[in-house]
Amino acid sequence: MRYLDKNALAHNEDWYGTNAAVSCTSCGKVFIVSATLHRKGRKCPACGLCTATVTKQQVAITEPSDL
Ligand SMILES: [Zn+2]
Repeated sequence: MRYLDKNALAHNEDWYGTNAAVSCTSCGKVFIVSATLHRKGRKCPACGLCTATVTKQQVAITEPSDL
């Protein structure tokens, strides 16, 4: 499990309100995840191996190695 650090976002990450752009830790694809649209998180649209979840407090990325 990875968490975005709002004060230290990487070049391929963004986080605004309840939306975030994250980078898949498996294939590198950058994709958008929204707390309102994806209540249970969103899988990487390219490989489906990682799931990103946004809550008010955090953006979490679940990696295949977590399962
Ligand atoms: Zn991926």
